[in-house]
Amino acid sequence: MADWHKISLEKLAKQEEVPEGMIRLSGPLERDNIVNGDGLRAVLWTQGCPNHCIGCQNPETWDYCKGILVPIDDILKQLSEFKGQTGLTFCGGEPFVQSKACKYIADYVRKEFGWDVWSFSGFTYEIIKEYGKEPWEFLKSLNALIDGPFILKQRDLSLRFRGSSNQRLLHLKKGTGEIVSVE
Ligand code: SF4
Repeated sequence: MADWHKISLEKLAKQEEVPEGMIRLSGPLERDNIVNGDGLRAVLWTQGCPNHCIGCQNPETWDYCKGILVPIDDILKQLSEFKGQTGLTFCGGEPFVQSKACKYIADYVRKEFGWDVWSFSGFTYEIIKEYGKEPWEFLKSLNALIDGPFILKQRDLSLRFRGSSNQRLLHLKKGTGEIVSVE
């Protein structure tokens, strides 16, 4: 196993304390977003990221102590008032360090609103799968994952929803996490 892979697993394991029933966000919920996934989407911006990619556009989202703690029930109420959306995308920060809260929200919007759910992650699909536990459970609730760190040397702004060519848009079979297709 390459060293970077081992380091990534250690980073993924280092989940920060967020009280039960809460999630730490870096900004307000967005609606009518067309650049973070297919269709018209709500976007949830999580706070806290261990990856620290060179060239990251959102370094203010790295610190686990910043942002704002929000009750998950408040998030669900706000999302229920967003009309006309086709889905929800989790952005960051790193959504997978708050996997339990993200999975709860993902399952709710799928069941109650019929939305599809996408997430970005600085971790690869393989790392999330190997780590297992809550991150893998969150992944199994997704329709699509855009995976991998942003690598400045591989920056390619022509790619759909991605910033560098190492990143993949993985379409997933809901409930199993199985990869259906790769862009
Ligand atoms: S994973 Fe995303 S938010 Fe985290 S440092 Fe990399 S580009 Fe920035």
